[in-house]
Amino acid sequence: MPTSLLWFRRDLRLHDHPALLAARDAAGPDGDVVPVFVFDDRLWGPSGEPRRRFLLDCLTALDADLDGALVLRSGDPARVIPQLAREVGATTVHVSADTGPYGRQRDAAVERALDDVPLVRTGSPYLVTPGRVTTRTGTPFQVFSPFARAWREHGWRAPAGAPDGVRWRTGVRSDDPPPAPEVLADLPPAGERAALEAWERFRDERLTGYAEGRNLPGTAGTSRMSAYLKYGCIHPRTLVADLAGEEGESARRYTDELAWRDFYADVLWHRPGSAREYLKPELQGMGYDSGPEAEALVRAWQTGRTGFPIVDAGMRQLLGEAYVHNRVRMIVASFLVKDLHQEWTLGARWFMQHLVDGDLASNNHGWQWVAGTGTDASPYYRVFNPITQGKKFDPDGAYVQRWVPELRDLDPKHVHEPWTAPGGIPAGYPEPVVDHAHERQVSLDRYAAVRAR
Ligand code: FAD
Repeated sequence: MPTSLLWFRRDLRLHDHPALLAARDAAGPDGDVVPVFVFDDRLWGPSGEPRRRFLLDCLTALDADLDGALVLRSGDPARVIPQLAREVGATTVHVSADTGPYGRQRDAAVERALDDVPLVRTGSPYLVTPGRVTTRTGTPFQVFSPFARAWREHGWRAPAGAPDGVRWRTGVRSDDPPPAPEVLADLPPAGERAALEAWERFRDERLTGYAEGRNLPGTAGTSRMSAYLKYGCIHPRTLVADLAGEEGESARRYTDELAWRDFYADVLWHRPGSAREYLKPELQGMGYDSGPEAEALVRAWQTGRTGFPIVDAGMRQLLGEAYVHNRVRMIVASFLVKDLHQEWTLGARWFMQHLVDGDLASNNHGWQWVAGTGTDASPYYRVFNPITQGKKFDPDGAYVQRWVPELRDLDPKHVHEPWTAPGGIPAGYPEPVVDHAHERQVSLDRYAAVRAR
């Protein structure tokens, strides 16, 4: 009987799934499809516990949608996938393309090991597959705005058809999954159905206010789709197809945010080393702080005890929900790099360990953007002031008071500067660990020094 293997990776859904349809079509009307997920130590090992837990829950949901047919295997995919293909007699193996540095290498190794069984890549996790949009001269874009224009002009396909007529083979042996970690953070519900419900709630109730609300962390102004997009519980095509009939700034703005996601994946595709290396190498020689005092400051940042309320709220949200609002990601990242003088890579690692949506391209390039070492316009000398940012984007202090209980009894006008409250800083909340104006100047001096070399 013709059989194809569908190897799920970052596409844990059944709808709008071109690789699934390709697997079905390759098997033909009388054939069947074996769905598999491989626990690969190279990815499982470095993932933080929130992502491991969310992934396991997404797999449980996917297995339920497949009526128990999902095969779980553990080990090096270059060994596991060819072995399973032989075991079930598969004549093709189907995947959504992975364009990240490790995924590309892994898939090339699997392809070689499969020998005469083709590895068929159909679709990718992006609206436009990384590498497709280039300048007129064929070079990669270095800056977001022209990329986004060319990206819109390039366009994308309509969502893929329904997964009808697939015969999923059941009864294929599975390995036991790794044990589910206990996670203290409050994670979103996992799986395709949860993703669709979350999207529909956002679209119906909050989309129209997105353009203004997206910068206000104290409101539910954004879609919270990032973890679902990361694991492919939903494809961004499904989202933009829904936005097609929407007039106004908010729908356009939302599509722009998805363009950032595609842009960073595109940058990583062209420059795989940029996951760890500075895109602007001239800032490589920047001076950073080390030693016990610097370590204590990093610890204060990690645990949300810097004495700067918006920073502390963000870092506590990270531990409490494995998520941080985008505006606050920028503020806490700027604080680590420019107030505490730490290399962006340290913050990027901490985020990847604790975020449920942790994604190499968006995270590491988001950090590079803030650090001024990345693609775009944020110059190094743009230093976020955590007090004015707090007052501007959390004007009633709702976000800070949600995450920093020590400040809940303060009048909102003192929340971002608790030292101005009539009774002083409330008991249990720390004094500011640094003088922002001074550290800003230190950063600028170091920047000038590195540029002068
Ligand atoms: P919405 O505002 O509803 O946006 C919709 C979707 O657009 C998001 O789900 C996301 O997929 C995409 N998007 C929005 N903003 C960006 C952006 N700046 N860059 C790339 N994609 C974007 N995003 C991640 O998905 N994973 C990460 O690990 C990650 N790390 C970040 C680290 C830093 C230092 C910074 C500044 C940003 C980071 N971002 C990351 C981008 C952004 O903060 C999140 O995508 C966003 O906060 C997710 O919330 P949301 O789904 O409600 O966003």
